[in-house]
Amino acid sequence: QKAQIGVTGLAVMGRNLARNFARHGHTVALHNRSYGRTKELVEEFGHEGTFLPSESAADFVASLERPRRVVIMVKAGPATDAVIDEFAPLLEEGDMLIDAGNAHYADTRRREAALKAKGLHFVGVGVSGGEEGALHGPSIMPGGPKESYEALGPLLEDIAAKVDGVPCCVHVGPDGAGHFVKMVHNGIEYADMQLIAEAYDLLRQVGGHSPAEIADIFKGWNEGRLGSYLIEITAEVLKQVDASTGKPFVDIVVDRAEQKGTGRWTVQAALDLGVPVSGIAESVFARAISGGVPERTAAAEAGLPGPSATAGQHTGDLVADVEQALFASKIVAYAQGFQQIQAASKEYDWDINPGEMAKIWRDGCIIRAKFLDFIKQAYDKNAALPTLLVDQYFLDAVSGAQDAWRRVAVTAAQQGIPAPGFSSALAYYDSLRASRLPAALIQGQRDFFGAHTYQRVDKPGSFHTLWAAEGRPEVDA
Ligand code: NDP
Repeated sequence: QKAQIGVTGLAVMGRNLARNFARHGHTVALHNRSYGRTKELVEEFGHEGTFLPSESAADFVASLERPRRVVIMVKAGPATDAVIDEFAPLLEEGDMLIDAGNAHYADTRRREAALKAKGLHFVGVGVSGGEEGALHGPSIMPGGPKESYEALGPLLEDIAAKVDGVPCCVHVGPDGAGHFVKMVHNGIEYADMQLIAEAYDLLRQVGGHSPAEIADIFKGWNEGRLGSYLIEITAEVLKQVDASTGKPFVDIVVDRAEQKGTGRWTVQAALDLGVPVSGIAESVFARAISGGVPERTAAAEAGLPGPSATAGQHTGDLVADVEQALFASKIVAYAQGFQQIQAASKEYDWDINPGEMAKIWRDGCIIRAKFLDFIKQAYDKNAALPTLLVDQYFLDAVSGAQDAWRRVAVTAAQQGIPAPGFSSALAYYDSLRASRLPAALIQGQRDFFGAHTYQRVDKPGSFHTLWAAEGRPEVDA
């Protein structure tokens, strides 16, 4: 008997993926650098399906049917390269090495190119949903050669999350496309979390609501258009009471948000592509500010002043307004993330269908939400949509939200409560809709000090003005 698929790297993620394959009736070959984990899996979960454990890489490879499908689920980075180096010589033409870890898409592109030269298919697969997702159905974003999807896709679709029977798994595009889309998914997740955190902060500080009350507000929102996994778990977190102190859990946690790096990667990639993902960037920076202990301590010691006591109160229904601001800012963050996916798709020739990305994020992953249905519909109508904001559903939503959104941004500024996500999303929105941007002045400045030239609104061509010679150093912008 041969296995349809093999998994090497049997820590929590690999183990759960292997069990998921087995529970769907596939025979699964097992391998791990140290045999202990392999043994443990078979002892604890062997009854869930058919597993073929191997101690050596060679036996593992021999236990697989052709073309061999080897899922690598090890620590991202050098460990992945070490595993590839170990397995590539044991595989034959047409076999597949499938990296399901959180690799950087540039590493995936490099690895695919190297293995292609050896006749092997390297498939970078984004897997979202953490350990629970891996076991019960993740959202899966496979890249790599399209031919490989024919042999691999059905297995991945089997174990993926389903929405009305439709798997949350589709071939994203060739080479690093899958890992790129997974990275942007994580970037959007950062933005979503930051916006939710700002909503909580305003409800608490401006509205004076307790965490338990805010939990109920979020629960209510979860029934409406904001309905999503992140809103749902936020309500749970806010409801939680610390057993040892009796205080709200949220008050006993140190207010420094950590990060593993995928948000940062998203922003770095966006900078290279020239895509303004300000919502994601603000959320990464907000985490950095929260972790900036020396600066925050110095600011507290210096007593950086807040607004005067006469700062304005919120005019309007705060809870309703914050819901509108949250929804509108969320739309902006997703619009930017999808724009980044489209830009990368163009840059690398990936031919990614954005509506399909919204489709496979509807379940199994952290940003799963009702909202994604509307994104899918928007791109189904027009895959080349320049920005989600001009799709009728989102245009109506933002038009309906904008007065409340502005009131919330004003209140935050007047009361000295940081809301970088809400405010920068609004600034992005206003920049898009501005008929004239002050970029014209920047062009003038650039031409002044660097003779960088400019274009005119009234005739074609490049122009340079002979500015007064004084005070014009010859430096580049
Ligand atoms: P870890 O990232 O903790 O990695 C541990 C595994 O890697 C073990 O099987 C270990 O083998 C193996 N390993 C480490 N170094 C080497 C090496 N040099 N050669 C061979 N094997 C090595 O495991 P996780 O299960 O947490 O995560 C696996 C992957 O999934 C990672 O890429 C991670 O980023 C990603 N991940 C994704 C999540 C998601 O939601 N999508 C959530 C969590 C992780 P040994 O037992 O011998 O030490």
